[in-house]
This record gives sequence, C-alpha cells and structure tokens, in this order.
Amino acid sequence: MRFKRILLKLSGESLMGEKGYGIDVNRLNDYARQIKEIHDLGVQISIVIGGGNIFRGLSGAGQGFDRVKGDQMGMCATVINSLALSSALGMVGCKSRVLTAIRMEPIGEFYTKWKAIEAMENGEVVICSAGTGSPYFTTDTGSSLRGIEIEADVMLKGTRVDGVYTADPEKDPTATKFNDITYSEVLSRGLKVMDLTAICMCQDNNLPIYVFNMDIVGNLKKVIEGENIGTLVHK
Ligand code: UDP
Repeated sequence: MRFKRILLKLSGESLMGEKGYGIDVNRLNDYARQIKEIHDLGVQISIVIGGGNIFRGLSGAGQGFDRVKGDQMGMCATVINSLALSSALGMVGCKSRVLTAIRMEPIGEFYTKWKAIEAMENGEVVICSAGTGSPYFTTDTGSSLRGIEIEADVMLKGTRVDGVYTADPEKDPTATKFNDITYSEVLSRGLKVMDLTAICMCQDNNLPIYVFNMDIVGNLKKVIEGENIGTLVHK
C-alpha cells in the first residue's frame, strides 16, 4: 500500500453532482463507497470537506454580507456536508466521527489532533469539519493544517480533473498534465492547485499533495494501490 495515513480533501462543489446547489445523494453515496473501499484496506483516513455547494464567504461578501459572518456561514456549510458524509458512511457500514473546529456539541466533538489520531487508530474515519475555525481561510488551508497535524503521509485532493495541468484543461485544449511537480513550480507558474496559503503550508511542512479525479468511482482505491492516475506535488 502506498499510503498508510491520509488526509482526503473533498470539495463541497463536487458534492453537488449534477445539481446546481446542495447535496447530490448519488455523488455522496459514491464518495462513501469509495472511502469504505480504502478503509477496508486498513488505511487511516481523515477527511476535510468544503462547503462551496452551500455557501462561500467571499461570494456572500459580494452580495453585501459581512465577510466574517459570511465565512462563519461557510464553515457551518462544511459541517452540514460533514454530517451528510458521516451519515452516508454509516449506511455503507463504515464508522466515522465528526470533529468540529468550532465548539458545537452534540453535533460533533471539538477537534484536537489527539482525538483525531485516536479515532483513526480505533478504525474510525475522522471528518474534520468547520475548516480551520477562523474566517479568511479556506478548507484547502484547513486540510493542509489538519494533514500536517495528524502526520498524514499525503493529502489526497479529490477534484473533478485528473491532475495538475499547464493551464485549465476545461478552457485550454492544448494544456498538458504533469505527472509530478514541485511546490515552487506550482507557485511560480501560478497554477491553481489550491490557494496560496494552503500550498505554502504544505511546502513549509513537507506534506505532499496528490491531485486526482475523485468523481470517477474506483479512483481513490487506485491511488492508494499506487496507480499513477493523478499528479503528485512535492518538494
Ligand atoms: N471557511 C472559512 N474558514 C475556513 C474554511 C472555510 O471561513 O477555515 C469558509 C469560507 O467562507 C469558504 C467556505 O467556508 O468560502 C466554504 O469553504 P470552501 O470555499 O473552501 O469550500 P469548497 O470550495 O472546497 O467547496
């Protein structure tokens, strides 16, 4: 097995599936089944999920919301997605625990590194919700932070593209895919793998990022088994 302990980042937007807003139950269940598959292999899993399918602070601010309150709404959105994923995991027979970066018992326990590690060691999937707990951050940064804290071997960034390209492949047909790339090249080329804060945190703390297409069922297992289907960002 290529990785023993992972931080899986899922975007809220992907959770929309074919819908324009909210949670697509088919997509949610696909994710749950894929996660169960690698859990059965014995991988220790923590997950951070975004909230962009429900609310984003920045777009809220554009509509006149107070930015900090908008970000707090966004963080609450990640909790909603985390609860949905936890519920879907339960349906496929996979035990999970939602931790929150903001106190909100009994919805989830307040996050600490040690609670997360203990739960993973006891065979539970951990879902770290509410991002970093602070406004002006994103769940990309939340996943860098949690990935570093829990001493993950890698951050697996599940997206709807199959890796990092020289340009946006959805806009530029001549774009080519990297098999691997360094953090500094991502930064110097201005590639939008994750936001700057998140990339810099991974670089400073040497957490590799593997970008792959999570919307194709079976891909998560392929990544764990060492199949080269995405792009590795490393030092
Ligand atoms: N957010 C925040 N602090 C964090 C993480 C998230 O304030 O540490 C808010 C922010 O408003 C963001 C929203 O939560 O727009 C949803 O997260 P994100 O945009 O990262 O979700 P994704 O794009 O991955 O769906």
